[in-house]
Amino acid sequence: MIRYDIALDELEALVDERVPGWLERAKSRTEGFRTKGKYEEKSSIWGEVKPVFMEVQGGAKCCFCERQFEAEKLGRYELDLEHYRPKGNVKKWECPPELVREGVSLTEPPGSDKGYHLLAYHLSNYAAACKACNSGLKKDCFPIAGEYDLGGDDPGKLMGERPWLLFPIGHLDVDPEAVIDFHGIFPRSTSDDPTTRLRGLATIAFFSLDDVIARKNLMKERALVLLLLHAFLVRTDDQGDAAAESAALVEKMLEPTSPHTNCARSFVRLFRSDPAQAAVVAGDAGTFLRSVSP
Ligand SMILES: [Zn+2]
Repeated sequence: MIRYDIALDELEALVDERVPGWLERAKSRTEGFRTKGKYEEKSSIWGEVKPVFMEVQGGAKCCFCERQFEAEKLGRYELDLEHYRPKGNVKKWECPPELVREGVSLTEPPGSDKGYHLLAYHLSNYAAACKACNSGLKKDCFPIAGEYDLGGDDPGKLMGERPWLLFPIGHLDVDPEAVIDFHGIFPRSTSDDPTTRLRGLATIAFFSLDDVIARKNLMKERALVLLLLHAFLVRTDDQGDAAAESAALVEKMLEPTSPHTNCARSFVRLFRSDPAQAAVVAGDAGTFLRSVSP
């Protein structure tokens, strides 16, 4: 995960430019939910702003696993517009026991048909996520350690709920890269702050970001990134055009618009500090690629 650096007013301006009138329609629907006291509508309109989030998130990258999908026309079928806080229902996350032992405590969700109805159309509650992360894993879960505040209408005032999952859009939450980095293809939670470290572990576990079976293809993509990066990094020490070209490719692979940026940046830091260890890690990535089943 990486942070996508955009403020709410910038997001609103972008939405207003791309989908004129959407903000007013969203506000009107939110007031309807406020009157009803719950989320209820025949058809939704948040899909209209999905392309804006695909654009903000580095060209159709999943905000959680950093896989990259096709541009708007086709990518919209591969990505969901995810509600960080579920709009109509909050389901329980079956937290792995080892995380509970480490200190991840979960508040019992408030019951069926109760969700954050006033956040169904709040831009600070949206992110674009791949089908595996959103439809397969996130669903209606929103694990927290504090008390659910389902009547909240401003995500900026709800961090007291102490959510376990990191949120990478804007500045409501900590920078995911300050919490999670990678050793090779494996994410790890490295924050010095004990609670933040647990949030990193919970986020990794929730989205199965280190699961070589459930997320085999995600891990294969990261391994390919590392092998390419290592080849380019080694060539940057040469002379001439090839070195310059390799350096430019390395820079490209570190940009937020490239897939698996956090993994790539972690590997480049390792290469700069310990090239011999980086070579071992790249070798491990190659071994993984050769050994993994199709
Ligand atoms: Zn994903």
